Amino acid sequence: MKRTLFEHGTGNEKKSKIEDEQQEEELIFSKPWKGSDGVVIVEDKELHVHTTVLSLASPVFEKMFNGGFKEAQTRRVTLEGKSYDLVEHMLKLIYPNDLSSLDPEPMLCPNCLVKKKQNRNLCRWNIARVKDTPEIKPLMENCRVCGKWLIRDSLGQRLYTKHLQKLYQIANEYMVKRIIELVKNEIDRQCRSLYDLFNAFDILESSELLDLKNIKEDCFKFISEYKFGVNPYTVQIIESKLQEREISLESNLRIKGILLQRFVESDSPASKGEIKKIAKGLASFDINKYGTPSQK
Ligand SMILES: [Zn+2]
Repeated sequence: MKRTLFEHGTGNEKKSKIEDEQQEEELIFSKPWKGSDGVVIVEDKELHVHTTVLSLASPVFEKMFNGGFKEAQTRRVTLEGKSYDLVEHMLKLIYPNDLSSLDPEPMLCPNCLVKKKQNRNLCRWNIARVKDTPEIKPLMENCRVCGKWLIRDSLGQRLYTKHLQKLYQIANEYMVKRIIELVKNEIDRQCRSLYDLFNAFDILESSELLDLKNIKEDCFKFISEYKFGVNPYTVQIIESKLQEREISLESNLRIKGILLQRFVESDSPASKGEIKKIAKGLASFDINKYGTPSQK
């Protein structure tokens, strides 16, 4: 959907144009531009904006810029406790622009990433594997520069999931409907092309945070049908992956139930040991040690 304008195997001409556009896009809010009439201050840095654009996108900004507060006169608002990068990304998504994407850094293949890193510091959003054949197309993307097919590795997927959740939370706070819808659609898109258990845990975590019940059930359907080998570390690995995520107690127990069902049905000798581990964990379950997931 979002990267279709960068076709597979693009030439050099397109590459330099994209790089120019990217640089321009990155600097866009740093100084007054095209009649900007307002300033948003985050982490002591200024972002120059158009108060009408922000007011149209967000009733919260509308109140700040047009209400009876002093911000309405000075047209400068300070957003306390927010991350500059996140607010900047929100603004990029509020402004209509071909290049704006939910991904904070567009996907680049390892080759192009190295070239880009030599110019400036890049964060690790784009951890990706190159795939020759696009067999799971919906989750794949093209390298923004050379057009190679890419798929995120599990760390990359994890980082992207966390970023989508933060974007959703800030969009919710400022009531930016457009971004809320974009994030929901992206999670739905990812849910329709789940490819492994941990990827399903990521989407499950998002579905609980965003209260997307259908997507949550789709994740459970995937988890209960997912074929994995049983070995003496199966429960340990799955539990550690669950602990890394903020997944509700209800979902945690459902996943344990699915595992038990699987082990009971399995003939593998490792299954018995894994059943014992889950049983032991449940028998000594302590709600106080479970932790407090941020969502109910
Ligand atoms: Zn590339």
